[in-house]
Amino acid sequence: MLITKPHAALLASPGMGHLIPMVELGKRLLTLHGFDVSIFVVTTDSSTTRSQILQQTSNQSSLNVVMLPPVDVSSKLGPNPPLEVGIHLAMAESLPLLRSAILSMKVVPTVLIIDLFGILVLPMSRDLGMLNYVFMTSNAWFTATITYAPVIDKDMEDRHVNNREPLFIPGCKPVQYEDTLEPFVLRGQPMYEGFIKATKDIISVDGILINTWHDLEPTTIKALRDSEHLGWISKGPVYPVGPLVRTVTPRSGTEHGHGAEVKVDEVLRWLDGQPTESVIYVSFGSGGTLSAEQITELAWALELSRQRFVWVVRPPNGSASGTFFDVANGGDGTPGYLPEGFVKRTHNVGLVVPMWAPQAEILAHPSTGGFITHCGWNSTLESIINGVPMVAWPLYAEQKMNAAMLAEELGVAVRAKGTEGVVGREQILKLVRRIMVEKEGKAMREKVKELKRSGDKALSNVGSSYNSLSQATKDLENYLLEKSRGASAS
Ligand code: UDP
Repeated sequence: MLITKPHAALLASPGMGHLIPMVELGKRLLTLHGFDVSIFVVTTDSSTTRSQILQQTSNQSSLNVVMLPPVDVSSKLGPNPPLEVGIHLAMAESLPLLRSAILSMKVVPTVLIIDLFGILVLPMSRDLGMLNYVFMTSNAWFTATITYAPVIDKDMEDRHVNNREPLFIPGCKPVQYEDTLEPFVLRGQPMYEGFIKATKDIISVDGILINTWHDLEPTTIKALRDSEHLGWISKGPVYPVGPLVRTVTPRSGTEHGHGAEVKVDEVLRWLDGQPTESVIYVSFGSGGTLSAEQITELAWALELSRQRFVWVVRPPNGSASGTFFDVANGGDGTPGYLPEGFVKRTHNVGLVVPMWAPQAEILAHPSTGGFITHCGWNSTLESIINGVPMVAWPLYAEQKMNAAMLAEELGVAVRAKGTEGVVGREQILKLVRRIMVEKEGKAMREKVKELKRSGDKALSNVGSSYNSLSQATKDLENYLLEKSRGASAS
């Protein structure tokens, strides 16, 4: 018999897209599976949005949230560094802080759960005798690509990178060159070496949790577990535990962020006045930014479409992830970069929200009927779990793979082409009409609602994801039992 509850330490790397699902995982471990949970948060600034999400979390439950002191990485990075490099540096700088925070606890936690960017911490947690799990805050297809990367057939990789052939992943849909992960294209450069090292670390952990569910990706999940395909590569089992998305809280208060504020009530009240499923929500995640030319094209397309919209606008930026780290200081919120007269001309049908919006609440609102999204995995799940079809407009990270999956495999999105350059207003206009007006959009809405039901079912207490997380916790408890038996025998 176990005498004490297992204690999980969760480590969230910078970025709301990592923090939000980590918090949701923590809540489930605490409330449904009897764990003690501490969440360690690595930050590069003192964002009020993040503080608010964490505040709500600690009000709701007895999660122990430990904010590590913010680390300043900006002075150590060159201009426009790749996103991954900045996150990696922040994690490295935070390592001693994490170590002393863990050592100051009465009892060292049983298990450390990291996200993709927490691998630097693995040697330390092994030193301290903790088990190591990774929580992939993305899907099974991306996890399969990461799993396969360390053992990839080099000829195949050559053909993928040099001849632009699809990348073969055993038992899974191949990755088209156009959708591939950036490190493959940067082969031979330090980023590629860092990527391969990271993938080797990931396959060495004791278990991999994924923010997906069985019925969303049955073939890929099977391949990850099947020893004939990918199952032999990872040391630990794979546990699909999603869709873990931020649950909507009662509608009041203020969302802060990026130096701007927007009343949650103001957006939701505006949505209350719109017909059911008539509004398209436009947002590019926590860090996504567009060029000045692209913003102009999008503004004209929205205006010409005559559809109702809520658009989260950010100042133009040459880099696609321009505000990823800059949660607190992104400008004064005045959308002076929109075409002259835009807000006035569209004020009857549209709402422009500077910098940051209450996305989970907007997508859950009955008036929302479509989503132009950068396909970050959290945004994708939030859209699916609210039955909202999408215009897939990927910008960085694994978002092109997500877009391909949504449009080609699941049939719940139409995909913008040419997102490397500027997507013209005619194309955007057509995409908006396809999901909001045309028959095709209706069929997509039905499909995405089916996925919503299957996601809800997966999380229910008879569902596949509930069972999968239960299994992960049982495996952990069995390990602890063995360990304590071993200790008392010696
Ligand atoms: N988000 C939000 N308001 C915004 C922009 C983003 O609440 O204006 C939240 C969104 O709901 C999601 C997360 O931030 O939970 C973004 O995660 P995602 O994986 O979609 O993209 P990332 O920002 O990591 O690229």
